[in-house]
Amino acid sequence: MSFVALDRLVRGGHVPEAEAPRVAELWDEIRRLKRDKRAFLPAHNYQVPEVQAVADVVGDSFELAVRARDLGPEQAALVVFCGVRFMAEGCYTLAPERPVYLPSLEALCSLAEVDAADVAERQEFLRAAGRRFATMTYVNTYADVKALSDSCCTSSNAARIADQLGVPDILFVPDQNLAYQVALKTRRTYLPPPEPHKFHPREYAEMIEPLIREGEKQGLVGNVFAWEGACHVHHQMSLEDIARIRRDDPGATVIVHGEVRPELQRAADAVLSTSQMAKYVDAHPEQTRYAILTECGLVVRLELDHPEKQFYKPCRLCRYMKATDLESVYRTLRDEPPEKRITVPEDVRAGAARAMLKMIELA
Ligand code: SF4
Repeated sequence: MSFVALDRLVRGGHVPEAEAPRVAELWDEIRRLKRDKRAFLPAHNYQVPEVQAVADVVGDSFELAVRARDLGPEQAALVVFCGVRFMAEGCYTLAPERPVYLPSLEALCSLAEVDAADVAERQEFLRAAGRRFATMTYVNTYADVKALSDSCCTSSNAARIADQLGVPDILFVPDQNLAYQVALKTRRTYLPPPEPHKFHPREYAEMIEPLIREGEKQGLVGNVFAWEGACHVHHQMSLEDIARIRRDDPGATVIVHGEVRPELQRAADAVLSTSQMAKYVDAHPEQTRYAILTECGLVVRLELDHPEKQFYKPCRLCRYMKATDLESVYRTLRDEPPEKRITVPEDVRAGAARAMLKMIELA
């Protein structure tokens, strides 16, 4: 959608008409600065359309970090990452020689807020219980948590990576709903998480032990110990969102993100990552009506890419993704403010890079 015309954004109600001249001016200035500074501008699928429209590439967090890593110094001298902080950290982690800037310091993530000390405690619990386990962390984490893990994963490759780690048990951090998807696809028992901030080893053991025994009886290959995290955007979606679509238009294809609750995953036609959703719509010209349950930014992008199709909107907005606007992108690119430069202490970065590279190797 990189070259979407401004009049389409105005007609679609994405940019108010009165603001169109300023958007055009900012696009020109951003393009000029990108050329002059050899800057690379990746944008996540959930960014507002006027930011996606001026980006060099639009995709999911992992694709964007790998694209930035693979650019030679002659192609990009700096990166302005239009996404949230853990994504900019991931970009820096894979290519620390290149400055990475984040346009809004309010662009955080409810899912990524995990205390590394709590993860270390859970690992110690599993070791003490004699479990043969690997720790997998979703890319939606900060570098200190990534550094504690055996491999990172994305929503599209999580099951494939879990299958290749060579141990029966997986501690899956931080998304409990994606953990369910991994358990289902890899024939492991899904072990629900404790309540947030209420991990008590004995109570937790009492809760999971009957489930582990039941899974063994069924011949499952191991267990997925789910962490107690969830994305506030996807976790608030409900079965009623899907039921309403099924009632109103039984022919519509319902696609959900792996971060929605398990009961929604079971009720959907497909469970996909954001990039897989875009590819799915491209690959199915015969399907004309969709309900896509994820952040609305992706749905807006699909509407602009496929004006011939109809998209129902049970989607939700992420306030962190919407913290970045065109003005903040422009000012960051122009001024390169030191406080917006994202770095990670080298020992932490090296550990996080190891886990990210393991994912690339296994995926
Ligand atoms: S949509 Fe969810 S996972 Fe993505 S940045 Fe927002 S809070 Fe985090």
